Amino acid sequence: MQDAVTFDPHQHDSASSTPSRPASSQPSGAQEKRDFNKLQKRLRRQTGNAIIDYGMIHEGDRVMVCLSGGKDSYTLLEILRNLQRNAPVNFSLVAVNLDQKQPGFPEHVLPEYLEATGVEYHILERDTYSVVKEKTPEGKTTCALCSRLRRGSLYGFAEQIGANKIALGHHREDILETLFLNMFYGGSLKSMPPKLLSDDGRNMVIRPLAYCREADIAEFSRQMQFPIIPCNLCGSQPNLQRQVVKEMLAEWEAKHPGRLESMFKAVTNVAPSQLADRELFDFAGLEEKQARMQASRIDIQQEL
Ligand code: SF4
Repeated sequence: MQDAVTFDPHQHDSASSTPSRPASSQPSGAQEKRDFNKLQKRLRRQTGNAIIDYGMIHEGDRVMVCLSGGKDSYTLLEILRNLQRNAPVNFSLVAVNLDQKQPGFPEHVLPEYLEATGVEYHILERDTYSVVKEKTPEGKTTCALCSRLRRGSLYGFAEQIGANKIALGHHREDILETLFLNMFYGGSLKSMPPKLLSDDGRNMVIRPLAYCREADIAEFSRQMQFPIIPCNLCGSQPNLQRQVVKEMLAEWEAKHPGRLESMFKAVTNVAPSQLADRELFDFAGLEEKQARMQASRIDIQQEL
């Protein structure tokens, strides 16, 4: 049995564990500095808690961090590097970016950033762009096929480089949006789990930012001045359905603060007997259960 990493958020307050912030982004005022430290600690604490709660990282793990160049994956890498310094078990990180050969992709940005951080990295070159363009009918959004191809390439590469965990930068809002998208368009109550074994059993996917708020990640990314690469170089329409759900959730949160937190708690607190899935709960066996309960009540009454 492997040891799970016990990430203690209180261990990370030393100066040595402070993420490398560009000098130009050092906060000027004391209040600004305090706010940044609070934000950083919150992200570390939530990430550490998610790792513990779902047993995401164990002694000796080699974790491949998928780096797209967006705010979420930069934040994921930075927070994991930070936690790694104080974790009581050893695990290694390797950052991987998939260069999909989109026209205009700034190839130098990620290697320059990763060289500066000193983290092991690979740039995987796969021309999924041409495949997506060829296979997607005119006017249709390309994101679904693009993501599928990207996932296939990254999963295969993880095996090649001996990474036994694949870390993705999805956060709390991604999980909630997916939950509603699946309800609205897929007729199923499912989302993105914090930890997932791929269908073929070859890859273990983890989402250490599952407890983190998107707004915190956006602010951290802004303050860290990550060199963001937009994910619309392909000229694709953004995923409109997801955008609609995102706006719906933001509106709810604005009207009723705390609603997203409550909905996320609901995802971790499921009562199968209070839903209607016959696979998850044995409704047909309720009479038998009732008879057993009544029989044991009669036994107890006779003993009294
Ligand atoms: S916006 Fe473009 S690069 Fe990003 S997922 Fe969609 S198709 Fe792929």
